[in-house]
Amino acid sequence: MEGLGSARLRDLPSVDAVLNTAAATKLLERFGRAASTSAIRAALGDARTALRSGASSVLSADELALEARDRLEAEDRSGLRPLFNLTGTVLHTNLGRAVLAEVAIEAATAAMREPVALEFDLSAGGRGERDDHVRSLLCALSGAEDATLVNNNAAAVLLCLNTLSDGREAIVSRGELIEIGGAFRMPDIMARAGAKLVEVGTTNRTHAKDYRSALNAQTGVILKVHTSNYQIKGFTAEVGARELAVIAGEANVPLMNDLGSGTLVDLSHYGLQKEPTVREAVAEGAGLVTFSGDKLLGGPQAGFIVGKRELIAAVNRNPMKRALRVDKIRLAAIEATLKLYRDPDRLAERLPTLRLLARPLPEIAALAQHLLPAVTQAVGANFMVALCECRSQIGSGALPLDTIASAGLVIRSRAGGGALERLAAALRGLDRPVIGRIEDGGLVLDLRCLTDEAAFLSTLSRLNTHALA
Ligand SMILES: *Cc1c(COP(=O)(O)O)cnc(C)c1O
Repeated sequence: MEGLGSARLRDLPSVDAVLNTAAATKLLERFGRAASTSAIRAALGDARTALRSGASSVLSADELALEARDRLEAEDRSGLRPLFNLTGTVLHTNLGRAVLAEVAIEAATAAMREPVALEFDLSAGGRGERDDHVRSLLCALSGAEDATLVNNNAAAVLLCLNTLSDGREAIVSRGELIEIGGAFRMPDIMARAGAKLVEVGTTNRTHAKDYRSALNAQTGVILKVHTSNYQIKGFTAEVGARELAVIAGEANVPLMNDLGSGTLVDLSHYGLQKEPTVREAVAEGAGLVTFSGDKLLGGPQAGFIVGKRELIAAVNRNPMKRALRVDKIRLAAIEATLKLYRDPDRLAERLPTLRLLARPLPEIAALAQHLLPAVTQAVGANFMVALCECRSQIGSGALPLDTIASAGLVIRSRAGGGALERLAAALRGLDRPVIGRIEDGGLVLDLRCLTDEAAFLSTLSRLNTHALA
């Protein structure tokens, strides 16, 4: 055996022989000499290992070139390639949250391609400020005196707390010491901001007198956190932002309100559950209000800070701000996204997040009906596909208890034995991965976020069902 294998090793073509094939010429054009040569070497290495362990056939130069091509194509596929989010969670943090409006994509692309006046005042011809591109928009949309922005809302919270309470006390209700996904825990952020956490009240009830008795000369800020990702029900009491603003004002201490998702419009106009708006939070008297760019707002990742002029000025003087700033690409996309809010009547058409959240159920159900035959055929005879009613979620911690009626397809395996998991994996392995969710023994494809039906069908036609049995 061993002798035979080594005899055959000599029959393997050389790297040069493989490079001289027609298939390799195409590889060189697509991937360049260095990458192609190393892929051919790797393919040859595998062929040698196979022969040593008893493989009987020696691969030809052409076959090796094709092996190398498969390798290079696999390496070339980006982990960030577009996918179909059929999870039913519209703002899926693991899938990149909000998809952007066309105008935002165009603005970002233009800013990538050419120089822009990022920190340059075109009228005066001198240095300008990065924030100027969105400051007046943010003020107009929120009613705040001034505004700034940073990398994400976690950064906004860190920066504001550090500005207001580094080395001082920050008062927060025990009912609002939240953890959101991705290791963002309010007590940890406060510690990193240099603030000494002063917890008041209890998990379910906090009263005005709890805040009042915690105030002292060391207090830097009263923090209110919108508990966006959970609800406390039953025997509860919290002090609203309006009342907290009065308490803070009497003590001459700023109130900071972290809205988390926050929205610039009243979602109930679009048939969704109401979430506090930024304008309301500002009107309630908070000194600083923080919220995310890529949650309900539907823009790129960003953290917005709006509020009183002197507090925003203090935030801007904090050297930490420089480390948390946003780049020109996102700033261009943010500006274009915010501008859409000046025309609320057409917002649901133009802003994908809102369009998807407000998508009419009959439209989704009709899509499911329409796709049923094609999906049934694509997954093959080992699976059953049926229409299903399901519930979509907003995601990113916003309104977690408020699901939205949706429709889709549920795929079940006739055989069991892990076939459904293999199907889910095969769908994830497609050129444009299809991500559903496994629920009660079925793979549910919630079609709320499926907008490109043709692309979905053509992707699905490449599903190899033989590998699934
Ligand atoms: C989501 C959230 C954050 C963090 O926002 P990111 O934009 O994800 O950094 C902070 N606070 C609250 C209440 C949140 O819901």
